[in-house]
Amino acid sequence: MQFISTRGGAQPLSYCETLLEGLATDGGLAVPETMPRVDAETLERWRALTYPQLATEVLGLFATDIPREDLARMTAAAYEAFPDEVVPLRSIGDGITLVGLSEGPTLAFKDMAMQFLGQVVEYALERTGSVLNVLGATSGDTGSAAEHALRGKERISVFMLSPQGRMSAFQRAQMFSIDDANVHNIAVDGVFDDCQNLVKELAGDLAFKRAQHLGAVNSINLARITAQVVYYFWAWLRATDAGGPIEVSFSVPSGNFGNILSGFFARQMGLPIRRLVLATNENNVLDEFFRTGVYRPRSAAETHATSSPSMDISKASNLERFIFELLGRDGERVAAAWHELDAQGFFDVSAEQPRFADEFGIVSGTSTHADRIDTIRAVHAATGEIIDPHTADGVRVARPFVEPGVPMLVLETAKPHKFADTIREALDIELEYAPEVRAMLDAPQRVTEMPDDAAALRAYIEAHALR
Ligand SMILES: *Cc1c(COP(=O)(O)O)cnc(C)c1O
Repeated sequence: MQFISTRGGAQPLSYCETLLEGLATDGGLAVPETMPRVDAETLERWRALTYPQLATEVLGLFATDIPREDLARMTAAAYEAFPDEVVPLRSIGDGITLVGLSEGPTLAFKDMAMQFLGQVVEYALERTGSVLNVLGATSGDTGSAAEHALRGKERISVFMLSPQGRMSAFQRAQMFSIDDANVHNIAVDGVFDDCQNLVKELAGDLAFKRAQHLGAVNSINLARITAQVVYYFWAWLRATDAGGPIEVSFSVPSGNFGNILSGFFARQMGLPIRRLVLATNENNVLDEFFRTGVYRPRSAAETHATSSPSMDISKASNLERFIFELLGRDGERVAAAWHELDAQGFFDVSAEQPRFADEFGIVSGTSTHADRIDTIRAVHAATGEIIDPHTADGVRVARPFVEPGVPMLVLETAKPHKFADTIREALDIELEYAPEVRAMLDAPQRVTEMPDDAAALRAYIEAHALR
């Protein structure tokens, strides 16, 4: 299996080559040259597999340059720290079932992909005899998932910038309690955009980037997208019986279009998915796109800080992979759409809009703070379950799309414990932390404070980067 660029102008690469690349050389994103297909017989055979075994089968369709036994070792290691089932399903009534993706070390779904990414990136670096210094900016969740996945790795170090004093106590503890020498937490005197601009400035200096072996593990990373495909298969296998109702729908709390893109891949691979319901919060640039066919990213100033903060995005970096399929896998048309976007601030594919639902199964909706609070209350009253605000957006937007006989599977993207303030507002409840979470919150913290200054950051990286 080779991977090509959505803009059609880059050399095909293998899975391991693509992992360390980021953007393709023509500015596009890596996609499979042909989407692998899974037939009904294979699906039935997969019912008996454990989660790591299923991951080996699904990822093996993409990572054909990795021997099976190596892949099996990596998937076993990636999901070792999870409960036995890895991804548990639980019904909350009204035809809705939650798919538990937040059982990993940072209590959010990004662990599902990051834990595998940590394994496979180290493996690819070993094969080429190289090292990687990951440079990233975080407002909380991605950074902690990356650090927990990469801590202690020999060929990787992490430089993670965060806005000083602007993360929750929980987020700070999750990152700053890590004491591995290869993890460098840097609190910048500024806001998240300042952190991101510092990353862009250094990563944009190609000589510096090459000399310091800088790279990223952001949401466009192909290992993350492919690792996320696995749980769509897993959830389908658990929610259907052999010979029972075949189609299911998924509802996905969305930001960068990474999670739902993996569901879209699963559907293109032949998994019987009826609807992919895209749920946004008040930052509803994607709901607007799927309703109108006009994609108009917003500025940082137009991006609201909401109570489902991990979905507070202004543009959706993975959308280009959907547009590639929409436009008949024609790289020139994709490149033209992004030129239009750069020139006028939007592109318009409204002529294709009816195909979003009819051909690709994608529908969408927006949830607000009041909706989130209502939904957390309603689910708690009906079932005693406490769901997190992002999952609540997923449940809320899913409801009008529930159809008789079609299980609606809502992806639970975080545990409520990470968002204690919103839970308190909705339910007037203080959440209890598990002992290992309590220990993390009380552990000593380690962080380097730095001014918002690219020269200071350069000097720090030069002094601490792996060579
Ligand atoms: C990252 C994140 C999302 C959004 O996922 P995308 O892949 O960016 O669409 C939703 N919920 C939570 C809790 C997240 O951490």
